Parts: sequence; structure tokens; C-alpha cells
Amino acid sequence: MVKKKAVMIGAGLANLAAAVYLIQEGHWNGDAITFYSLDDHGSNDGSTTSEAADDYWSQQHPLENTRGYLARGGRMLNYRTYVDLMDLLERIPSATESGLTAAQDTYEFDAAHPTFDKARLMEGGKGIIAAGHLGLNNTDRLLLTKLIMMPDEDEEKLDNISIAEYFKHSPHIFQTNFWYMWETTFAFRLQSSAQELRRYMHQMIYEFTQIEHLVGVNRTRYNQFESIMLPLINYLKEQGCHFVLNRRVTEFKFKPTTMQDEITVTKISMTNTETNETEEIEIDDQTAVIFTNGSITDSATLGDYDTPATENPDYGAAASLWKQISEQFYNLGKPDKFFADRSASEWVSFTLTTKNHLLLDEITRITTQVPGNALNSFLSTEPITPLGQKDVNMSIVVHHQPHFTTQKPNETVIWGYFLYPRRRGEFVQKPYIEMTGKEMAQELIGQLA
Ligand SMILES: Cc1cc2nc3c(=O)[nH]c(=O)nc-3n(C[C@H](O)[C@H](O)[C@H](O)COP(=O)(O)OP(=O)(O)OC[C@H]3O[C@@H](n4cnc5c(N)ncnc54)[C@H](O)[C@@H]3O)c2cc1C
Repeated sequence: MVKKKAVMIGAGLANLAAAVYLIQEGHWNGDAITFYSLDDHGSNDGSTTSEAADDYWSQQHPLENTRGYLARGGRMLNYRTYVDLMDLLERIPSATESGLTAAQDTYEFDAAHPTFDKARLMEGGKGIIAAGHLGLNNTDRLLLTKLIMMPDEDEEKLDNISIAEYFKHSPHIFQTNFWYMWETTFAFRLQSSAQELRRYMHQMIYEFTQIEHLVGVNRTRYNQFESIMLPLINYLKEQGCHFVLNRRVTEFKFKPTTMQDEITVTKISMTNTETNETEEIEIDDQTAVIFTNGSITDSATLGDYDTPATENPDYGAAASLWKQISEQFYNLGKPDKFFADRSASEWVSFTLTTKNHLLLDEITRITTQVPGNALNSFLSTEPITPLGQKDVNMSIVVHHQPHFTTQKPNETVIWGYFLYPRRRGEFVQKPYIEMTGKEMAQELIGQLA
């Protein structure tokens, strides 16, 4: 049956993109597309903290301090790899720059503010490290080359193999500038999959020769919500698409099939997160249901200046829906692989809003570069890994300012993260995941000093 309507579960970048192509390439009416979603930003968010406080998971853990901004990511684009994203953004007008497409907006901004990171790695007592010396030995090189050259048909040999296991005969690699930059540029941990590392190596192969300056990194003018998501949302609303927010889809009902070989959704159940009521929708034969089956931020919780983020061990909205579906069909993947082991995937990030530019100016002085150029990662001065090695403690992205259209001239917004949230701070003696915003700021200042 040819589909003429679509129900999108989630309004993240993937589903918004699907809607644009259905309209522009499939010649659908926007009116035929309805989004049911908890929010309209997904992982590509960026807003005032007070707006984020209304999000579903934040409602369970109210914030006392809702001043400042939330930028849950220091997103990096890469034109040579992000061909599809730039094609998508070329099709829609910018939300902030009149007369430009969203792609032209980014091209124009990025050309005027090219990335050339001069302080990619820093270490207490040493300052900026010469990261261009990658530090790989021959065994590291051999293993990396084997990984990259592995034919696609052999990739399943890497099933269930973590990065730590893959490099078990050369743990030296984890103490090289190459690894410090790779793990923090792409958020890889030792528990992450070697398969995923192989795929990223293919995708980002261009960055090998320039990783210490990140010159291949392209950035949007503002945060990803205003520079990527908002243009898409504005365009889709103009086309007549329907956005039904504050809905958590909890269950799909399927047409019964004896062989489990046909996956046809007949009904969707959801919770209205404002009223807590259950709502149901019948799905007819002409309607396609499109679902993004994993989201890394939909169960994220927020802390504030004086309160650590509450830990939420629940399966996220996307993960639990995927689980509900995969229990009925043998061929829909294994969500537990991605979500059951929290320690393998958890991480902590923070957004720091200041009321003056003192910290920004100091970072500019210490890193010898203007805001907007860098991903600065701070190396530990002592061994901190279970292998007895040094590693990166924390990273920051100092965006070009302003990072939000509503940011006041006296305000600075900085984003940072801890790749291993259970490790302890060097200046605040507790695990990062237990720190308040104030303690994270103290840890950052300690690293900079
Ligand atoms: C900190 C961070 C940094 C990143 N950095 C980069 C980067 O530098 N470059 C890059 O390319 N990518 C980066 N990413 C990844 C990128 O943001 C994601 O790959 C992308 O946003 C995924 O889009 P998506 O639409 O698939 O999912 P999401 O953006 O996660 O959107 C899913 C949407 O569905 C909603 N939803 C989920 N389940 C349900 C449900 N059951 N019912 C209703 N709604 C539901 C969610 O609320 C959300 O709105 C980063 C991600 C993070 C978190």
C-alpha cells in the first residue's frame, strides 16, 4: 500500500529531515505529516534554562535556579562528511539571517570564523601541549590500520568487542595525544564499540592529519537549535505540518502476523505529559509511522548552580519504546545493547553562563585564541585510569559569542563535559557526576590556573 500520510514519533533532526524530503522530493502536502514528540529539539537543543526546565525529564526534578542558558552540546560539523546535512539546510531559509538559506548562514559565518585550534590539549603546570606529535608507536599504527582496512563483510568479527579489548595488546595507544584528541572530539570511551570506532574512522578520515587544529570543523552561527532546528521547524510549520508536543509515545500495537515477518502499526498509545492522560491514535493503511529508535538525551536530567543533576536510571522514552517493539519482533535490534549498561554510556556536561567576560577573557589569554575556535581538553597530572594511565579530565568548548540570539552583551556562555563522570575532580574532591554547577566551575578554574 502506497503511504500518503506520516506519523513521526519524535521531532528530532532525523524526523524533521524526513519530513522536508517527503515534502520536497515526495511532493507530499505538509498537512499529511504529524509529529508526536516530547519536545521539538531532541539532542540539538539550546535555549534559556527556564525553557529547558519545562522539558519532560526536568519536570520530574524541578530546578531552583533557572537563570542562564542550556547548550547541551558543542556541536561540530564537517562539510566534507556532512553532505546530507548541508543539502538539507540548503533547502530551507535561515531562522536568523534574512535572505539566506540555513546552509548559506552557516557557510557565511564559518568562512568569517574559521576554526584553527591552538590549544587542543592542555595540562596542569605545562599549559598548551604540542598535540601535533600524535605519539603512536608501530603496534598502535598496525592495529589502527587493520581496523580501518577491515573489509565490511568482516565487521561482525568486532561484535561485542570494546575499544579496550581491541587494543589490549597495545594499551599504549590510550596514552597518546592521538587518543586524547580522538576520544574527546568524538566522545569515545574505552567501553565503546570497536565497530563504532571503525565506522567513525572511515567517516572522519579527513581529520587524521589535522586533528590537533580541528581545521575540518565547521560551526553554525548560533546554537544548534536556533541555527539548525528552528529553520526546519519554521519551514515545516509553514508547509502545514502538525506538531503535537508534550506527548510520550509508550506503545505500538501491530497487525497480528503468524510469521512475524510484517511490521504494520495499527495503533499508537501515548501519555500527554501535561495532563498525564493516555491518548490513543488509530493508524490506517495509508499512514507510515516513522520512529527514531534511540535518543541519547531524552532521559537527561539537569542540575543547577547549587544542586547536582539527579541520576535517572530509567530507560529513556525512545529506548523504552524501542524495547516494547523489539520484544514483539525478532528482527528489530537489541536496545539493551545500548541502554542496559549505564556505565558504558553515561556522561555529564555543563553549560556555564557568566554575567561578565572575566572568565572568557582569561580563557582567551590562557589558550591564546579568540572564542569560537577551540575544543580545549585538560589532561590529568596523575594517572587516573584503571590501566594506571593519565587521561583527559574535562573538555570545554568556548563558543563564538553570542551563542544565543537573546544573550545579553555582558553574558558569556561556555559548554563543557566530563567523558568519565565517575572519576573524581582534581580540585573538587568528588566524582564529577555528584558535583554542583558551582563545583564544576571551580574544577574548570583549577584546570585553567
Ligand atoms: C552533547 C552532544 C554532542 C553532540 N555533538 C555532535 C557533533 O558535534 N556533531 C554531530 O554531528 N552530532 C553530535 N551529536 C549527536 C547529534 O546531536 C544526534 O546524532 C542527533 O541529534 C540525533 O537526532 P535524532 O533526530 O536521531 O534524535 P534526537 O535528537 O535524540 O531526537 C529524538 C526526539 O524524539 C523524542 N522522543 C524520543 N522518544 C520519544 C517517545 N517515546 N515519544 C515521543 N517523543 C520521543 C525526543 O524527545 C526527541 O525530541 C551530539 C550529541 C550530544 C548529546
